[in-house]
Amino acid sequence: MDFIARIEQERNSSADITAKTQSIYNELLRRSRCLGTGNFKSISSDDIASLFDLYDERFFDGRCRRVLGDAPLSFRLSKRMTQAAGKATRLRHRDRLTKQIRTEYEIAVSTTLLFQTFHDIDRPIVMSGIECRDRLEALQRIFEHELVHLIEFLLWEQSSCSARRFQSIANRFFCHTEHTHQLITPRERALTKFGVKPGSRVSFRLDGQHYVGVVNRITKRATVLVEDARGVKYTDGKRYTKFYVPLGQLKRLET
Ligand SMILES: [Zn+2]
Repeated sequence: MDFIARIEQERNSSADITAKTQSIYNELLRRSRCLGTGNFKSISSDDIASLFDLYDERFFDGRCRRVLGDAPLSFRLSKRMTQAAGKATRLRHRDRLTKQIRTEYEIAVSTTLLFQTFHDIDRPIVMSGIECRDRLEALQRIFEHELVHLIEFLLWEQSSCSARRFQSIANRFFCHTEHTHQLITPRERALTKFGVKPGSRVSFRLDGQHYVGVVNRITKRATVLVEDARGVKYTDGKRYTKFYVPLGQLKRLET
């Protein structure tokens, strides 16, 4: 069967999928110089590259690599992704010397979300409809999702996880029943641990000074706007200075 037909039709039994993903879990721990355990504390982009090789070999008989040919595929860990758990991209650009169009692919994984999950907030973590017991299982679900994006890019140039074709592939190969993650985002953690959300009035100390302001945005840290006559004018007509404050240093004020 050619690769497209296989991707469109093949259905793996759930017992088969569990056995394969479990074997990948064990093999990745064995190969990795970083991970060590299911709730690993450090990870390298080599681990994502290993995941690609293992999934390609055990689910697709190495066909993904073959379809890629000599198109570059790179793997990246991102601290800045604070909402999306992963991201697969297809990039096309014209080579300046040869004038030929080159296509490159990248899979990125958010370490911020991974490390905040299975950390200090205890609730079930369901990824793509599957409950995960530790960080490595969550990483596998993220990777499977991005791998389906990559396969769609390779075969059809376009990919969308809200579309039926994506969801069918993700279900037949990986038992995914949803296309969203429930990792703990900085926003959820800020609310659960510190009672702070965008719009909250907060106080904090910085260099011995005491400030009061309003939380504007939460990513890795909170962006807090403090009223300041020398600050920048905002749409509400007032002037503010912006501070980036670690969440643990914020005190919530009653409004
Ligand atoms: Zn997606």
